[in-house]
Amino acid sequence: MDVPHDIEVARLLEGLPDAIVVADSAGRIVYANRAAGRLFGWSPEELLGKSLTVLMPPRWHAAHQAGFHRYLTTHETRLLGRTIQASGLRKDGREMGVELSLSTFRQSDGRDFIVATLRELAPQVVLDPASAAERATQDRLAFLAEAGALLDASLDYAATLQLVARLAVPRLADCCLVDIFEENGAIRRVATAHRDPEKESVLRTTEDRYLAQGEHPAATVLRTGAPVLHEDITDEIWARMARDESHLQVIRALQPHSWMFLPLTTRSRTLGTVAFVLSEPGRRFSTEDQVLAQELSRRAALAIDNARLYTEARRERERLYSLFMQAPAAIAILRGPELRYEFSNRLNQELTQGRTLVGKTVDEALPEFEAQGLREVIERVYRTGEPFVGKEIPIILSTPAGEKTLFMNGIYHPLRGEDGLVEGVMVFAYEVTEQILARRQVEVAERLFRTLTNHAPVGIFLTNADGDCEFVNPRWCELAGLSPEEAAGRGWVRSLHPEDAERVFREWYEAAQARRAFESRYRFQTPQGRVSWLQGSAVALRDSSGSITGYLGTVTDITAQQEAEAERERLLTDLKQAVRQRDDFLSIASHELKTPLTTLRIHVEMLERMASRQGMDGASERVRTKVEKIERQVTRLEDLIHMLLDVSRITQGRLELEREEMDLSELVREVASRFSEELEDAGCAVHLTVRPSVRGRWDHGRMDQVVTNLVTNAMKYGKGKPVDIEVGAFEDHPYVRVVDHGIGIPPEDQARIFGKFERAVSGQRYSGLGLGLWITRQIVEAHGGTIRVEDTPGGGASFTIELAR
Ligand code: ADP
Repeated sequence: MDVPHDIEVARLLEGLPDAIVVADSAGRIVYANRAAGRLFGWSPEELLGKSLTVLMPPRWHAAHQAGFHRYLTTHETRLLGRTIQASGLRKDGREMGVELSLSTFRQSDGRDFIVATLRELAPQVVLDPASAAERATQDRLAFLAEAGALLDASLDYAATLQLVARLAVPRLADCCLVDIFEENGAIRRVATAHRDPEKESVLRTTEDRYLAQGEHPAATVLRTGAPVLHEDITDEIWARMARDESHLQVIRALQPHSWMFLPLTTRSRTLGTVAFVLSEPGRRFSTEDQVLAQELSRRAALAIDNARLYTEARRERERLYSLFMQAPAAIAILRGPELRYEFSNRLNQELTQGRTLVGKTVDEALPEFEAQGLREVIERVYRTGEPFVGKEIPIILSTPAGEKTLFMNGIYHPLRGEDGLVEGVMVFAYEVTEQILARRQVEVAERLFRTLTNHAPVGIFLTNADGDCEFVNPRWCELAGLSPEEAAGRGWVRSLHPEDAERVFREWYEAAQARRAFESRYRFQTPQGRVSWLQGSAVALRDSSGSITGYLGTVTDITAQQEAEAERERLLTDLKQAVRQRDDFLSIASHELKTPLTTLRIHVEMLERMASRQGMDGASERVRTKVEKIERQVTRLEDLIHMLLDVSRITQGRLELEREEMDLSELVREVASRFSEELEDAGCAVHLTVRPSVRGRWDHGRMDQVVTNLVTNAMKYGKGKPVDIEVGAFEDHPYVRVVDHGIGIPPEDQARIFGKFERAVSGQRYSGLGLGLWITRQIVEAHGGTIRVEDTPGGGASFTIELAR
């Protein structure tokens, strides 16, 4: 048994004139004072452990249970802290009116108790049964008290009104009906009570559909808001009122002789009607009945209104709740100095990785906050009542997958109670991680771009889509001698060399307008006059939709390259001129040499003749030998001069062929026999493999020159080794091949030796001008033939000329 520990308090309670009954959360009486025993006719000890319902008439039990249950689940009761009138039941079965007030009491162990304080209502009236009028008044008061308590006990007004209607029958009328306006404007019957259960069920099933009909008194009351009272209603009136035959049947079954339709009105709105019907002919509503009915309807209206307001408030609350729940921001409410989560919406839940927050303190739910100083921030808001607005606050959460950093924008806002004191903190935040990461990426890209452009060895510029300058890098500025500000827009044009300015300006803006890439070579000239040659190029920059947003261009300093090219050009010109001068000189020199050489030959020949005429003595024999030697040298000189003359003739394109019918085999035999002595001197045995006759139309003299050249070369470079000469024809192509077994020609030189002055040997070991093969090739090619050289197997060179006939 739980009784107050304190003796003084217990004595105080025992001495009170008011009855005190304490019940536990199961509705069992745990304490009753002496006055309670007196009031209900029980000894206090008897009451202990009994249900509270023993103290009330049975018709109250349902309402009591409902109210009690509601209190237990919601901790809300509309009776708490108020004094109401109710009916009490004594142990001897007598009912009495009581004044009741309820309060709650929570013990230190957390258990809840209900404390009822009761006082008998007008006991003198009850005690004096002689006064019928007073008893009637007492009855009415008790009735009202009961109805009022019922109406107060529940928010389910339809069910409550049904209880009240039943209370009114048969005390106030034979039938009681309650119709109310729904929020959508329809009329709905919410309570039906008839002293005859059969009639009640008829009423329930049929009457509803006639309510909205114009002449129905309920409709009239709803329309006008004024009560309607009809007495002595006759069959005639029923017939008039009935909408149809079956309606009339219903009315007749009910036998209404008197009725009262009262409006249910609050705040000047008619919420519905309550009808009281008397079925006994001649019975009428007394004035007291009417007053009582009016009071009842007033209270019922109040109850409906309250219930509706409450429902509306609850709906509003639910709406707000779901709004907060679904808000696209994280919302949470922390309550009390320990900062305990009272509310956390979906997004907040997601952000905290689905941790359970509600019911926990910040420390329990998010221990990471302490080290990050966030708890301190929230606490300060609670302490000072100053809101905190944070931008891009990093929050590090530990997750099973490791630490995760979120960036949040948010507000911690103090929540104040009615007294203005801070009771909690509201958190409103939204995540900006993605934006921040994106921005950081852009920053990194930008830094990279700056670093690259700052150190790039080429000038870099960016323009808008029109081609006007928006950015230049340091190298560009250095080349142009302009600052970025000076280059902006069309300022860059000042960097152009005066001779190139107009052209480049035109080329650039034409390219930009035509959305073309740009490529050009031009000069910059700095304001200090330094000129540099540039290779400029630019490409279009496009956005994701493909439209051009600007151009990215580079200028590369090609001054050194340009200068090298100019130098090469100059050298080439010089070289060409030198070659021309050489050729001119050779041509002039050989011509000039020819004349004295011709004269020299005449004189040598005269000398020879003179020497041979003078008989064959010893002295003249020596002279003759000398003269012969002189003649040989003259011949060599003539050959060299011929060669030089040939070169200048060919160079000037004056090689003219005099073709005639001739036999290549015969020519080769002639040359071989002409050189037989020299070949022998050189130790070269000659093998001729010659087809009897290989004929064609060629320049005889020039072909002689070709064969002579090849044979003398074979002799010179293949001294002491045999020489094979072959004449034949591949298919229809006559050929001559001269094969020696001499020093041969390195592969890398084989192509080169056919060039003018090209040699593959040193001048000290082998004399020569390096012109023979060149002339040979010119002659062969002039005949439409070819010449090639190959290695002779075992060493030596093998020259082949092929001719067309
Ligand atoms: P030259 O004999 O006066 O030097 P050529 O034009 O006749 O000029 O020959 C060019 C070069 O080709 C020679 O200097 C020599 O190096 C090479 N050459 C020509 N014929 C032969 C050969 N039969 N064997 C080896 N080398 C040869």
